[in-house]
Amino acid sequence: MPELPEVEVVRAGLEPAVTGALITGVEVFDERSLKRHSPLEGPFDGLLEGRRMLAAGRRGKFLWFPLSDRGGAPAQALVTHLGMSGQVLLRTPGVEEDGLLRIRLHIEHPERGEFWVNFVDQRIFGSMAVDRLLPTSDGHDGGYFGFAAQLGLEPHGEAWRASVPAQVAHIARDPLDPAFDDSAFFAALARKKTGIKRALLDQTLISGVGNIYADESLWAARVHYEYPSDKLSRPRARELLTEVRIVLEKALAEGGTSFDAQYVNVNGVSGYFAHSLNAYGREGQPCPRCGTPITREQFMNRSSYFCPRDQRPYRPRAPRT
Ligand SMILES: [Zn+2]
Repeated sequence: MPELPEVEVVRAGLEPAVTGALITGVEVFDERSLKRHSPLEGPFDGLLEGRRMLAAGRRGKFLWFPLSDRGGAPAQALVTHLGMSGQVLLRTPGVEEDGLLRIRLHIEHPERGEFWVNFVDQRIFGSMAVDRLLPTSDGHDGGYFGFAAQLGLEPHGEAWRASVPAQVAHIARDPLDPAFDDSAFFAALARKKTGIKRALLDQTLISGVGNIYADESLWAARVHYEYPSDKLSRPRARELLTEVRIVLEKALAEGGTSFDAQYVNVNGVSGYFAHSLNAYGREGQPCPRCGTPITREQFMNRSSYFCPRDQRPYRPRAPRT
């Protein structure tokens, strides 16, 4: 399953081709990939054709492309979620896809020319949708918008910046988002009374941290995955959040984000960057820190990998007698 760094690579790869591009045609080959599109918004293809994509945004694992205004219609965006196996591939028109093509957008960029944006998805957990943009509750940018927002290249004003698609609004900001509220996150941990890994995977507290990067961050911060979130001291919570950011940034740095790579290559073929993992998937192998064999335990239908020596479970102190 693509996680935040993989999705960011997709966003950054698409950005130069889609920002400012006109959508000239839409082909839907499998309606199941529109399961997050509400017919109440209007027909998916009719809503897209003739509009421009103004930017490429991301929050956690959601991607969206704010659309140019259309007389009186509410502000809208094309929202994309890759699910378990989705890919968004930039292609030269005429080159047929051998994978499981579900949706194709025909786009025309003022400088770069015509492309196909192919949404390929093997397992149909991913989707595309046109969704309404809602103002953010904190007034900050809805997510990360890359160079277009930074350089002010957008030709249609900036109303879309401090907004977020309705179906993304309930998702918390991700830890790489400059508007992520660290104090609110620590307060939520103290309030939640849940295992710390559950909290890291809870998209309403913090988004974009999946199973792999949760395990890696917990290993780096030496926190057991079942440690009660409300028992974690503020300094340890702060250290954990720092490690989450380091792990995500490292994966991003190793992933590369060039336009050429996106264009020629297929994003996420292997699913994950081939970066070095310290705990995840390393059952029985020595902990890189202390040499103790890494342990795997069942966790929410998946696995947790941790070092049993450095990541000790919570032990309540015995009451004084
Ligand atoms: Zn260890």
